[in-house]
Amino acid sequence: MTIANCKRCGRLFHKSGKDVCPECLREEDQLLSEIRQFLRKYPDSTIFDVADGTQVEYHVIVDFIRDGRLILRDNPNMSYPCERCGAPTMSGRLCVTCSRELANGFKEASESLRQRETRNRPGGGFLSRS
Ligand SMILES: [Zn+2]
Ligand SMILES: [Zn+2]
Repeated sequence: MTIANCKRCGRLFHKSGKDVCPECLREEDQLLSEIRQFLRKYPDSTIFDVADGTQVEYHVIVDFIRDGRLILRDNPNMSYPCERCGAPTMSGRLCVTCSRELANGFKEASESLRQRETRNRPGGGFLSRS
């Protein structure tokens, strides 16, 4: 069993897959259910409205969404800025455009690397037929 510092309160605890101690986890679950209740009542809220209404801090709510613990379904205004370009996003760290761009970037980079390797291979193909 691993001993770790709780991400939230800093207390040492026996880690079992989570970053927070059991006490904080219970607290977070409590906060999450409050947020969910609030959103059921006011589906058009923004994160600021929810923060006001539930007394949960803005960044805590964003973390819940990023970690996939708070799933947004019919809450069109619950967006927060993308970490890369600042565009409104509603899941993960990046907006749809940035995640797509990054994915394409990785693909292109590895493809051009492969092409260079093929070109630089000595003695291949018809060139060796002298
Ligand atoms: Zn804790
Ligand atoms: Zn973005």
